[in-house]
Amino acid sequence: MESPEQQFVSPTVIDHAQAPRNRGPLANFNGHARITGPCGDTMAFWVRAREGTVENVSFVTDGCGPSLASGSMATCLAEGKRLNQAAAITQRDILAALGGLPGEVEHCALLAANTLKAACEDAVRRMTLDGKPNCETCADASCAAHQRLAGETEEAFAERQQLQAKLCRIHKKILVLSGKGGVGKSTIAVNLAVAFVLAGRKVGLLDVDIHGPSIPTMLGLETVPLHEVGGELCPVEMGGLKVLSLGFFLKNPDDAVIWRGPMKMKAIQQFLKDVAWGDLDVLVVDSPPGTGDEPLSVCQLLGKVDGAVVVTTPQKVAAVDVRKSISFCRQLGVPVLGVVENMSGFACPRCGEVTAVFPSGGGRRIAEDMNVPFLGSIPMDPKIAESCDEGRAYITNYTDSPTAVIMRNIVARLSEAGAISTSEGADAASTMDRTNVE
Ligand code: ADP
Repeated sequence: MESPEQQFVSPTVIDHAQAPRNRGPLANFNGHARITGPCGDTMAFWVRAREGTVENVSFVTDGCGPSLASGSMATCLAEGKRLNQAAAITQRDILAALGGLPGEVEHCALLAANTLKAACEDAVRRMTLDGKPNCETCADASCAAHQRLAGETEEAFAERQQLQAKLCRIHKKILVLSGKGGVGKSTIAVNLAVAFVLAGRKVGLLDVDIHGPSIPTMLGLETVPLHEVGGELCPVEMGGLKVLSLGFFLKNPDDAVIWRGPMKMKAIQQFLKDVAWGDLDVLVVDSPPGTGDEPLSVCQLLGKVDGAVVVTTPQKVAAVDVRKSISFCRQLGVPVLGVVENMSGFACPRCGEVTAVFPSGGGRRIAEDMNVPFLGSIPMDPKIAESCDEGRAYITNYTDSPTAVIMRNIVARLSEAGAISTSEGADAASTMDRTNVE
């Protein structure tokens, strides 16, 4: 039987100049670079990376022994590392792993390190989403996800990196907030998300309204089973919309969620970190109401939130809440995309004419007062309530109604404000139906 010493073969005892590994071009590569050093030697590297990890690296060089040894050792060191770690391999690392090179040929290790770095950066460039690097491919060593925080445990660091990897693939994150429950926040979140899908965007809808996760009901998804792939939870797909809600996890829709703060935080974190959201143009988040711990946790977990839509009702008592919601956003550095006044007047089911029920215009006044955009007033429309109960998004169910036009105008204003580009894309309207739930 071999002794432990015999089983372990240190890379330093392999003569990489005599037996270079991974020499020659690599098929199916996604990163490549070729550099000629000041000594006149040329080196080329090919990198194949998957989900941000270097699976395979190969090289060629027209240089002699030390170049071969350096290139070969660089491939050894890079494989299995994250792209950013492989890109950070230095001349010193290569020399140390080789057990040193004569001083006059140490530059060969520098050429190998530089060419490997350039190939890894090329892989990142090719694998970016909308030109924006994402964590799974990121070679940006300055990204917060690459820095372990002071006092952070290994486990917490790994979780934060995992979360960041998901968030980086989501181009825009929009929060739908309200000062209190029952004002139509979820209704607006659903219709906004669907309107973005109709405009050809890839959209996620995350319902973290712990106390009233109503989105499964509003989209007719209560009985749709969740499934996992590769240890990750898959959101329910409905046309171009990916949906996840705490409601999917309640055995009985009447169950109350009685969780302490840390449990809620953990659940929200898992909804982001352990879910296969994939690449999204926008994630619409239906936040818990109010300005307390729960919406705060949501904002903290989401990191950079691109904007918040604040939903209110016309009554005077709602004014205080909406002001609080706007201040909350300001304190957290979340841009307020605007205020929506919901249940503003009553839309006649026959002619669509809107009659004032309570004095309206409160939402607009607060928006003006607090210097944030006013996005529009949505009337109380029995068809909205009916659509919610039937599990269909109002905006697709009553496309031509005056209220649907108001909703589309709100989306257009969000688009003008740069919240999301809504250039007409795929003909998604026909696919937004329960029958398309995968
Ligand atoms: P929140 O998320 O603020 O608690 P919801 O979106 O769940 O509020 O709405 C509460 C109820 O009010 C739902 O039954 C919904 O159908 C209804 N609703 C919301 N907006 C309107 C509206 N403009 N017209 C009629 N019913 C509405």
